[in-house]
Amino acid sequence: MRAMVLEAQRHPLQMREWPVPQPGPEEILVRVHACGVCRTDLHIVDGELPHPQLPLIPGHEIIGQVEALGKEVTRWQVGDWVGIPWLAHTCGHCKYCVRGLENLCMQASFTGYTHPGGYAEYTTAHQDYAFALPENCRSPEMAPLLCAGLIGFRSYRMIGASAEHIGLYGFGASAHLITQIAMHQGKKIYAFTRDGDEAGQAFALQMGACWAGGSSDKPPVNLDAAIIFAPVGELVIRALQAVDKAGQVICAGIHMSDIPSFTYRWLWEERKIQSVANLTRADGLQFFQAIQHIPIRTSVHFYPLAEANQALQDVKQGRIKGAAVLLVRDES
Ligand SMILES: [Zn+2]
Ligand SMILES: [Zn+2]
Repeated sequence: MRAMVLEAQRHPLQMREWPVPQPGPEEILVRVHACGVCRTDLHIVDGELPHPQLPLIPGHEIIGQVEALGKEVTRWQVGDWVGIPWLAHTCGHCKYCVRGLENLCMQASFTGYTHPGGYAEYTTAHQDYAFALPENCRSPEMAPLLCAGLIGFRSYRMIGASAEHIGLYGFGASAHLITQIAMHQGKKIYAFTRDGDEAGQAFALQMGACWAGGSSDKPPVNLDAAIIFAPVGELVIRALQAVDKAGQVICAGIHMSDIPSFTYRWLWEERKIQSVANLTRADGLQFFQAIQHIPIRTSVHFYPLAEANQALQDVKQGRIKGAAVLLVRDES
């Protein structure tokens, strides 16, 4: 099969002829149709996340169809539509797993990081960690649901149900999906982009945000909560200054630059800062349930598999309105 392979961090991916993986007893072999390009992939390639399993096929926003079954697989049939997310496997018995926090499992493995991912024509997944895709989530433009959607949704659910005015810092793949869910639930979205990014602000307004500005701008109301999707530590302070008493600041990314020191006054009055790590399978099931009756639209830029490096650079430079997706099936 053809695969885009990371052989060493801080080097571009290489197109390689690679053996089609053999599914383990509890794994399914999946023919990849499309794979989203997540900012986390960029952090892995750029060396900001340590110790990937090299050589590595990145990619954890996978849409495909089951091609073959391991001999103990019971939950799937050949031809089923499947979505493969970041969480590839957990131990099931560590203190986090037994408390319903499998996202923090001490022996977790992750798709496209410690388990081969979807920048290839085929991949494998454990039968219990892949999601059956509803009919409206099978087309390639839905690939970003598998991480930008799922982890964005986990971040969004960290916010108290009474929150009405919600700020999103970094209006990319996650934010444009979460905006649609939040609006459906009657929330108001305030979008913060890089200062001066008028195209990004226009995109946010077009997706339904009630206000859009630069990250240095003050929103027209005190926010009840803010989610930070951009990997920029200063934004934690900006967001703290924008939220009301008891406001929450949720850091949704897996990596962020250092947070500068700040006066306790900005945290005072029960403001909270929290990070979100990975996802649980329950997040996924609830996410697909939540979007069942919401006509989710994605804004997607497609690339052929061979142009994965270009896609990563475009994500890095913020050149894409929405999400980048590799079309794997179309060209093979
Ligand atoms: Zn991701
Ligand atoms: Zn565990």
